[in-house]
Amino acid sequence: MQHRRIGLAVGAAVMSLALSACVAGGSGGSSTGGSAGTITIGIKFDQPGLGQQVGSDYKGFDVDVARYVAKELGYQENQIKWMEAPSAQRETLIQSDQVKLVVATYSITDARKQKVDFAGPYFIAGQDILVQSNRTDITGPADLKGHKLCSVVGSTSAQKIKDQYPEVQLQEVDTYSKCAEAVAAGSMDALTTDDIILAGYAAQDQYKGKLKVVGNPFTQERYGVGLKKGDTELQQKVNDALTKMINDGSWQKYLDDNVGASGYKPNAQLNPPKPGSA
Ligand code: GLU
Repeated sequence: MQHRRIGLAVGAAVMSLALSACVAGGSGGSSTGGSAGTITIGIKFDQPGLGQQVGSDYKGFDVDVARYVAKELGYQENQIKWMEAPSAQRETLIQSDQVKLVVATYSITDARKQKVDFAGPYFIAGQDILVQSNRTDITGPADLKGHKLCSVVGSTSAQKIKDQYPEVQLQEVDTYSKCAEAVAAGSMDALTTDDIILAGYAAQDQYKGKLKVVGNPFTQERYGVGLKKGDTELQQKVNDALTKMINDGSWQKYLDDNVGASGYKPNAQLNPPKPGSA
């Protein structure tokens, strides 16, 4: 009898261990250093040059950064699961363990740091404006007054306009590609977000010659890799990976490969930044 009780207790302990291993290995990915299992990474799906779904493949600077970081954490390409991370959902995706990392033109801000932690920065962009190529009346945010401006809910881009240019008619949608479409169609006057994102749309085949970036950046957007708040071990590993990526030339190659063709030039005073200061 005594023996059986112990057997049951041990059995239960083993079961609960197995269960917790299951939970840990679930959605967001197994332990960060593990070679087994998978890692789920949130990226954009509709931002050419940065994070874009192309058939069954994923392309862009953020995607290449994510692949490099994943590899440094012990995950091969076929162990990465990509998940779309729209601007407004990024914190929630991390907090609910649906993703382990977010690499999605994700600006490091104090407000977001209440909910998640960041590694990085790995890039510094600036908020700018996209208009139809033939327009000359909008050269900066001060010219937007009375115009219809499109941006994305949950972004620093929309927040900046609400805080500092409240007289602008701001419309917030869920993705930047919808805004680009609306500007091209003429139903919106302008789109505002980071210059590197806007350059990607302006260079897209369907918009070439029709859309242009104003070229007057008015913020600094420090891109970080979002991760679970308090996971300082993962944060350190990702910072080490980002530093290595910049130092071994991969950072420059990823920019050239993905963004070079758009003609976009990163701000050389600010780039590459020094990861670890998020
Ligand atoms: N970098 C800005 C942000 O994180 C704008 C781009 C985006 O929404 O992904 O809000």
